[in-house]
Amino acid sequence: MDVQTFLGGIPAVSVRNETGSSQIILVCEHASNYVPDHLSNLGLPDAKLAEHIAWDPGAVEVAGILSDLLDAPLVHANVSRLVLDINRRPDHPGSIVTLSETTVIPGNEGLSAAERSIRCEAIYNPFHSRLEQVLATRQFSNPWVLSIHSYTPVYKGLNRPWHVGILHDADVRLSAQLIEALKRDRNLVVGDNQPYAPSDGVYHTVERHTKPFERLGAMIEIRNDLIADRAGQVDWAHRLHNILAGMRKT
Ligand SMILES: [Zn+2]
Repeated sequence: MDVQTFLGGIPAVSVRNETGSSQIILVCEHASNYVPDHLSNLGLPDAKLAEHIAWDPGAVEVAGILSDLLDAPLVHANVSRLVLDINRRPDHPGSIVTLSETTVIPGNEGLSAAERSIRCEAIYNPFHSRLEQVLATRQFSNPWVLSIHSYTPVYKGLNRPWHVGILHDADVRLSAQLIEALKRDRNLVVGDNQPYAPSDGVYHTVERHTKPFERLGAMIEIRNDLIADRAGQVDWAHRLHNILAGMRKT
């Protein structure tokens, strides 16, 4: 197996609306639950690959609708995070997991350095190169990086109270505006660095493509039962569009 054939002819990354006029660049790292055939489902039954452990259900649909509403590029991955999570540093334990929530991932156990390396070259490197290429060619000098995710309402048996969470690091230029705007809907429980935070190692993509360049960035996590069908996806895309369209672009 070599890097060229590892993904079975599927590109690691796709870009929608690449020439869109928006200053905002949307990202969806966990858009797909695709596992190349030669990895034999990583030893999991088909039903497991439909679950949130393999991807972020609903996220790429929301991101796609939002991309069209904003006329913003959307950079999204085409491979399951169970093969390799591009939103983790390659040396992070969460890059290739052997346990996701409570599910053992047999196909990730005992990988050699060469097997880890080929996944990185076939998935991680092309994704981040392509995203940086899109960011570097924007007509604006300071593109915003907004990464769209979804999360499971119940994790390890515990209910999560938030409808949506905004994740950010010490630079709150974008996240503070998002949180304030979302909280105007009194029916919403809005998480501030919930249900995850950068200290969990889950902020890698935004950090990598914003911090060295002083770009604005944030991650949006939407509870996946709210965007399980088309109506919910359209509703959340419009909600985010209304907020983002009203923000001052600096
Ligand atoms: Zn995610």
